[in-house]
Amino acid sequence: MNQTPLNAIALFVALLSGSILVGPILNIAPEIPFAFAAMVLAFVVADTFGFQGKGMTLFLDGFARLSPQYCQRVIHHESGHFLTAYLLDLPITGYTLTAWEALQQGQEGQGGVCVETPANFSDKATAAQVERYCTVWMAGGVAEALVYEAVEGGKDDLRQLRRTLNRLNMNTKVHERQAGNRARQMLRSNWDAYEALVQAMTHRKSVAECYTILEQYCAVAV
Ligand SMILES: [Zn+2]
Repeated sequence: MNQTPLNAIALFVALLSGSILVGPILNIAPEIPFAFAAMVLAFVVADTFGFQGKGMTLFLDGFARLSPQYCQRVIHHESGHFLTAYLLDLPITGYTLTAWEALQQGQEGQGGVCVETPANFSDKATAAQVERYCTVWMAGGVAEALVYEAVEGGKDDLRQLRRTLNRLNMNTKVHERQAGNRARQMLRSNWDAYEALVQAMTHRKSVAECYTILEQYCAVAV
């Protein structure tokens, strides 16, 4: 999931307007909110160009995590990726649920399910391979749509899917739609497994433990 730019702008505007509004009440000089805004902007610029926005991702993810609903949405999203990768027999090497965990494990963004990809995947993947990975990439947003009727995350997933399809000269729209349909069908037909996985990931079970739980509900599809 990646909502960083929008969240950054929203938070920045909220902080700036809040400090301007509250300033006179608390007898804070008007220069202080603007100095504060300049410092925040300097941090954002330095972070964006020096650390690929990791500092802001960490900060905003930590801020968002104060909401239990946000944490649950992330777990439901990632469970969609996990379950479809399991069903399609794609090796899962780990998963992270926070930006901090992702940073510690050398992942980009706010974390997610790590699925092993063949070394030359982006150049020489077969149609069947592409279909399976596209299904997994779409499954996070599809899971969110099934549970919450709206999708907030998954922009990075879509970017990765479109980049791969473009590189392989494959029709983006067609494959995106097919993969979304396939992910929806897989999640619906394995809903008990999905819910069990959500519970397991909520309790931070290891990948091996999640596999053991899933084996009680479903077998791999290929
Ligand atoms: Zn995702």
